[in-house]
Amino acid sequence: MIISTGTASGKSLAYLTPAVTACLDGGTILYLTPTKALAADQLRALRELRITKVRAATFDGDTPFEERKWVRQHANYVLTNPDMLHRGLLPRHSQWSSFFRRLRMVVVDECHGYRGVFGSHVAQILRRLRRVCARYGSDPTFLLASATASEPGAFAKRLTGLEMHEVTVDASPKGSTTIALWEPPLTDLRGEGGAPVRRTATAETADLLADLVVADIRTLAFVRSRRGAETVALSARAKLADVAFSLTSSTDRHTPSPSPPGSPSETGHHTPAPGSPDETGHHTSAPGSPSETVHYGPSSPASLATSGEPVDEGGAGEGDLPEEGSLGWSIPDTSDWTGLPDKIAAYRAGYLAEDRRLLEKALRAGTIMGLATTNALELGVDVSGLDTVLIAGWPGTRASLWQQAGRAGRDGRDALAILIARDDPLDTYLVHHPDALFGRPVEAIVLDPDNPYVLGPHLCAAAAEIPLAEDDLPVFGDTTPAVLEDLVAQGLLRRRPAGWFWTRRERATDLADIRGGGGTPIQVVESSTGRLLGSVDEPSAHTAVHTGAVYLHQGETFLVEVLDLEAGVALVSSASPDYTTFARDITDISILGTQRSHALGPGTLHFGEVEVTRQVVSYLKRRLQSGEMLGDEPLDLPPRTLRTRAVWWTLPTSAVAPLAEAGIDLGGAAHAAEHASIGLLPLFATCDRWDIGGVSTELHADTGLLTVFVYDGHEGGAGFAERGYARATDWLTATREAITSCECERGCPSCIQSPKCGNGNEPLDKRGAIRILGTLLTQQ
Ligand SMILES: [Zn+2]
Ligand SMILES: [Zn+2]
Repeated sequence: MIISTGTASGKSLAYLTPAVTACLDGGTILYLTPTKALAADQLRALRELRITKVRAATFDGDTPFEERKWVRQHANYVLTNPDMLHRGLLPRHSQWSSFFRRLRMVVVDECHGYRGVFGSHVAQILRRLRRVCARYGSDPTFLLASATASEPGAFAKRLTGLEMHEVTVDASPKGSTTIALWEPPLTDLRGEGGAPVRRTATAETADLLADLVVADIRTLAFVRSRRGAETVALSARAKLADVAFSLTSSTDRHTPSPSPPGSPSETGHHTPAPGSPDETGHHTSAPGSPSETVHYGPSSPASLATSGEPVDEGGAGEGDLPEEGSLGWSIPDTSDWTGLPDKIAAYRAGYLAEDRRLLEKALRAGTIMGLATTNALELGVDVSGLDTVLIAGWPGTRASLWQQAGRAGRDGRDALAILIARDDPLDTYLVHHPDALFGRPVEAIVLDPDNPYVLGPHLCAAAAEIPLAEDDLPVFGDTTPAVLEDLVAQGLLRRRPAGWFWTRRERATDLADIRGGGGTPIQVVESSTGRLLGSVDEPSAHTAVHTGAVYLHQGETFLVEVLDLEAGVALVSSASPDYTTFARDITDISILGTQRSHALGPGTLHFGEVEVTRQVVSYLKRRLQSGEMLGDEPLDLPPRTLRTRAVWWTLPTSAVAPLAEAGIDLGGAAHAAEHASIGLLPLFATCDRWDIGGVSTELHADTGLLTVFVYDGHEGGAGFAERGYARATDWLTATREAITSCECERGCPSCIQSPKCGNGNEPLDKRGAIRILGTLLTQQ
């Protein structure tokens, strides 16, 4: 069964009731969630029921060793995550035999998180689980809970391999939510090729967060990256420190009187901060404080200009921050304005369990009023009582947008959610095309459990758990026999009369890197102390911890002194640069095979297998607050090859010759169209811009024509390029629209420039991209 309804519609109760009943009958329950934080929250909810016969326990990376044995032997309600199931429970199933024997129900919570490559891995882990249960004679019911998704039954079947019933009617009471689409203004700053730079979504979000917190409005800001969330919190805290300073140091100002919690003013603007707002809701500058000028768009109310320092110039540097603990927050003394900055904190998965609990508690109690977070909270941690949600940058899917927006609104009251556009073609498209968001069904969740790069490692793990027999093969899907043959040829499995065996000494589960991109992880070490800060998987290391990269860890900023790939170490030192870094790569692509093709306008659209060679060649420095470009530094890293799937289109010479005659730079036009189409594909394929890559050329060796490729950035493919092929007309039409609707003249990061472009965004031809896409989309 899958229950697919909105946030806070009572899904937990729907699975808790039968689950607790099963426990009382002597059965056991396995509860799976993508995050530890959500498991801890569920554990708290279960314990609050005070049913002594339900012996609930979490079993994850945070569980101390001495407790693990108790959990295995005595717990009848085990809360864990797919990683732990993959590495811990399944390989050691004999230690869990009494648990698996009595297993009645598997709850898969927040299952919309299982998409793309990660979802494909989880699908195979669930198949392994079903097989182990069968070994112990149990046949548990799978109960899945998901945010609203289209065709949830079909998705649940792909995820579990079982026929599914779906429940999709949501009758829970709710207030209304006002959604604002917010586009930061272009600034006077100039970026690559003299392009105008838009104010960053994080800077706008930090301003809004600070303003809302001063107005006593409980606000959650969703920021896509961990680094972004930390930047928003740091910069909003710095703003509050300025406010607190001016409030406590000046006596002839108005007494601060934050507006009561509640919804924003009727104009749709956020409630102005202490100070003297005029009737229109706009801020009037306090005496002695210069008025604000260019940093807000016409629709955006002025905020706390108390220091008069334009934040875009990096005025809110990290050096201005008050003393802080390791997490950058503490429980504030609310009677005193100096405690104001402490009302804002950053949150993400990866903090220690006790820190997370403390922070969640502070938010519930109202000692923390503003929280900047990655999607760790999106995955179900119960934070109630929020008035406003800020969403910095398109969260990737309509389903995520509605889920994040659904966090706002306490006790059925009205709420506000603001989507703040990033400097990127998809965000630009969306804030100019509300019809792409409203009144449309949410997207289907894409995963591909048959990807041989996913299936292979899980077949090895399954064989290590219990040797694979012929009867097991249908459980793992149609492609299993071919993949098994390949595993035998590689010497990973051995074929014997009784079936397939894992005979190697290594752990088979190490072959599957379910969340990462594979390879040996790189350790991130602080050079002065030898302290291990964390690890980064090898492909990501090239972009995240290359020499010279800015690396954020739990609110602290580090500079990477050196990345030593051979030693598997990145040495970092504490620093506070006022810029961020973006790695840039150059890419070559060759076609291995075409699976499908059809005509598209005068051109042809293809889908097939490709080999991609990528090399990170340099990194770009951009100023933290403004996004202004500071320079491009070369790097010396080895190339990496990737066999994956791609969608590509070609245009014949007869179609492009007239464009060239009209003075269009064909290479620049194709390149611009490629960048923008990569930006827009996530609207159709539930992927992330960073999950896909592209190559464009006026003349490709394999096609002999002008060609634009967009490929899956994961070994073996992830289903994204395939969706692009299926939705090509809509996708490329939206791409052209996004370029056309950007107000810049010759191209900017909101339309055709890409932060990861290895060619330094050269050449690009905006007008040409519109023409070339127009040609491709001409009805023949
Ligand atoms: Zn533009
Ligand atoms: Zn490029």
